[in-house]
Amino acid sequence: MRNIQIYKNMFNFPENEQKILKFWEKNKIFEKLREKNQGKPRWSFLDGPITANNPMGVHHAWGRSYKDLLQRYKAMKGFDQRYQNGFDCQGLWVEVEVEKELGFKNKKDIEKYGIDKFVEKCKERVKKYSEIQTKQSIRLGQWMDWENSYYTMSDENNYAIWHFLKKCWEQGLLYKGRDSVPWCPRCGTAISQHEILTEEYKLIIHRAIYFKLPILSKGFSSQGGPASGWEKTSFLVWTTTPWTIPANVALVVNPDFDYGIFEADGKRLILLKNLAKNILGKEFKLKKTIKGKTLKGLKYQGPFDDLERVKTARDEKAETFHTVVLDKDLVTETEGTGIVHTAPGAGEEDFEIGKRENLAVIDVIDESAFYLDKMNEFSGKSAKENPEIIFDYLKEYKEGEFFYKLEDYEHRYPTCWRCKQELVWRVVDEWYVSMEKIREPLVNIAKKINWIPEFGLDRELDWLKNMQDWLISKKRYWGLALPIFECEKCKNFEVIGSKEELQKRAIDGWEDFEGHSPHKPWIDSVKIKCKKCGEAVSRIKDVGNPWLDAGIVPFSTMGYFSEKNQWKKWFPVELVCESFPGQFKNWFYSLLVMSAVLEETGPVKTIFGYATVHDEKDEPMHKSKGNAIWFDDAAEKSGVDPIRWICAKQNPAENLRFGYNILDEAQKKLLVLYNVYSFFDTYTKGGKTFNEESRLNSNNILDKWILSKIHHLAGVAEFNFDKYNIAKAVFAIEDFFINDLSLWYIRRSRKRFHENSPDKEEAINTLYYVLLNFTKIIAPVMPFFAEEMYQTLCLNSKSQNPNPKSEMPESVHLCDWPNLKENSQTDLELEEGMDEARSLVNLILAERASKFIKVRQPIASVKIKSKNLKIKNKEELLELIKEETNIKEIIFDSKSPANEKIELELDTKITKELKEEGITREIIRHIQDMRKKAGLKPSDEISVFFFSDEELNKILKDNKQQILKEIKIKDFYFNQETNINFDFKKEAEVDDKKILLSIKKQ
Ligand SMILES: [Zn+2]
Ligand SMILES: [Zn+2]
Repeated sequence: MRNIQIYKNMFNFPENEQKILKFWEKNKIFEKLREKNQGKPRWSFLDGPITANNPMGVHHAWGRSYKDLLQRYKAMKGFDQRYQNGFDCQGLWVEVEVEKELGFKNKKDIEKYGIDKFVEKCKERVKKYSEIQTKQSIRLGQWMDWENSYYTMSDENNYAIWHFLKKCWEQGLLYKGRDSVPWCPRCGTAISQHEILTEEYKLIIHRAIYFKLPILSKGFSSQGGPASGWEKTSFLVWTTTPWTIPANVALVVNPDFDYGIFEADGKRLILLKNLAKNILGKEFKLKKTIKGKTLKGLKYQGPFDDLERVKTARDEKAETFHTVVLDKDLVTETEGTGIVHTAPGAGEEDFEIGKRENLAVIDVIDESAFYLDKMNEFSGKSAKENPEIIFDYLKEYKEGEFFYKLEDYEHRYPTCWRCKQELVWRVVDEWYVSMEKIREPLVNIAKKINWIPEFGLDRELDWLKNMQDWLISKKRYWGLALPIFECEKCKNFEVIGSKEELQKRAIDGWEDFEGHSPHKPWIDSVKIKCKKCGEAVSRIKDVGNPWLDAGIVPFSTMGYFSEKNQWKKWFPVELVCESFPGQFKNWFYSLLVMSAVLEETGPVKTIFGYATVHDEKDEPMHKSKGNAIWFDDAAEKSGVDPIRWICAKQNPAENLRFGYNILDEAQKKLLVLYNVYSFFDTYTKGGKTFNEESRLNSNNILDKWILSKIHHLAGVAEFNFDKYNIAKAVFAIEDFFINDLSLWYIRRSRKRFHENSPDKEEAINTLYYVLLNFTKIIAPVMPFFAEEMYQTLCLNSKSQNPNPKSEMPESVHLCDWPNLKENSQTDLELEEGMDEARSLVNLILAERASKFIKVRQPIASVKIKSKNLKIKNKEELLELIKEETNIKEIIFDSKSPANEKIELELDTKITKELKEEGITREIIRHIQDMRKKAGLKPSDEISVFFFSDEELNKILKDNKQQILKEIKIKDFYFNQETNINFDFKKEAEVDDKKILLSIKKQ
């Protein structure tokens, strides 16, 4: 960037922002804005709730910047809006933090402490962090009705979900299922499929085991002896989860694969032939190859057959116990032994196979993953933390007959999204919303929504097509009390849809509950009468999946239950905006489901998603990694406008790199803009009347051009903001203020703003008009910076313009979006011509540089050969090129190259006159530079003293008049001509010669 000076310390972003915050508050600007737009056409925004569990990180600033930007923009366009912020309050994330605070290790600690006290602690935490986040959001410049935020823990929100669940029940969608589910041993609850995101799979090294299972007989062995031909033969089996071996009930092989029988020392092992080489020792020799299907129905002995739990299972389902079954999909040829250990009580696919093959389910662990009773020495021991107990047992059992070997195995393994513990699988009773009936309607709803980025639709459809039923229960404490009442006697269950209904149905415990929020433990006092058998029935103990809490907000917060007519005015909402990783399975999904069940329609017209914030090296930010940046730190160091600027400029489909170097870069760019404003401020202080009409009268080509540009910019920004192409709009804004306004318009117009310039008034009026409109265009993106600049422009204008008709609103945020369409000043031909002129300038300067001719050295002419140049006859533009490139004449050559290429020919001959002119220019520049450094005003007169050789002296003498004229010099002296005591000295190099310059103010 040429000629741009960065006055880094001249503008303090954080300080300015604090000043503006006070200004907004004192003058109630936000309140005035809402008043201004009240009753006008609506633009319905719905805030996705932020988890009120910690102070904000910079990643929160990304989404909040978008939300505020769009709401401010829509407000400038005159839309009436809801400004309700939301806090997400219930769920495991809060519980885990409170557990940490209290030093709890597991659920037993919570129960000992008291569920009521624990739930109160959770509420307190939410209150604390919602207050902190409110303050931080205000600091970010987000304009919300902060007194009126919604909380998902509110009675209103919880009862609204009751209503939804009752609808589900009435539509036959709600059921209790016994299923194998991913389970967190620390949190003691099922983790739903929705919650296991790709990033929850961690690369973990496990101890894998190869173990042997001796073949018993074909057809169950009432005789006990091995089946004929299979004596001394064992299956070789492999697993990475040794704790599940006691739960084994079957083996799976692929019917079409080739299995080998290998022998060494009279003992035989069966495994997939192709995998044997890497697993077995050299002593093993292949005896026979057989197809997997010939193994079907073979029975085998297990190492844990003496445990009571295992015996019970064998007695229950003797037919299928410890049997080989077939499956084509489950067995791979790439890992393990090709014989898959199957434990329906401890694995998801195992459970599916178990259902198909009528296998027994052996539960072996409790909710903390400790072995259950009736398991001898294993009972009460942690299954997950001590794989050695299984290894040691197998090494010793029957003299190691079942043990083969151990190895380290690295793989991606799912962990708890909240506490990062490795998950296990358990078969438990949980509650589900069936997806079968609503899958199709959901797909149709999703297709009608405008997804940004576009791939959002594919991701959502992919999820909707593949998702299983929605697991909505959690065996926890702080959350929605699922309103399901299940009769222990007759197993009938009912769903209660409201507080009133519960009160009506209550036969006991209402007094204990009344006055409390509908949470555990208070809600659990209430009993109703079973409609079938008359028994007193309690609520099930479970709480709800937290995405129920956030999915209901288009109904609970917008008056669906209290003022349905109002609700209809705001539903469906225009836009929601959240970080997309995870939300296709979670919030976006729950929004769709709840709206589909309640209203059979989509809840929102546009879903705007954005990716994740990374650090400067493109690594994900993590508190534990130490590369996370807290919002407060970034805001106080760099100010929030630069943060907002970076966020707005980012392509939302891609991860946003963020860090202090990136913030510095953004600040530097914004300071270019600041310098433009302060330039304007400098030249208008002391009085200038801005006449709206005079701008139209300027005949200056630069004025006409910049007016055309600003009119264009307003249109481009509007078009892109309307389409939520925020980054595109912001790039256009940046291009305008750096490349057009600062680097070209201001730089080329600088002299016109000087005191005696003949068209100073046109220049100032034009710049004022441009800046005023530009300030409005950037107001939604950088509300503080825009306000500061607007106030400066206002002051300059108001003091001089007593006409009440032209009174400006007191804040830029009370201005309308600049409607420059009418009375448009756009001039496409001029813009194209200017583009051409600027690219010619660049070509000529490059050509000069390649020939080592400084720009300050005038050149006689340039010959331009080109076919399609439009500016051949545009004198004003050609003048600009000449000035900018310091060339006396431009000649267009008719013999042009055939293609689009432009060829240049510089006249590089430097005549005596040209050389003298160059030297004179250079000396003028040095003196001006000295004047500036000495802090002299343009009007101050000086004397100059030169000390150099005869040749230079002569040149200066010959050009004396020009020098005197250009830089207000009273007189100048050479060498020893004077004994004036000069104030400022400078040594410079001109034309390869040293020259000493001194100046003195007169
Ligand atoms: Zn957990
Ligand atoms: Zn009953």
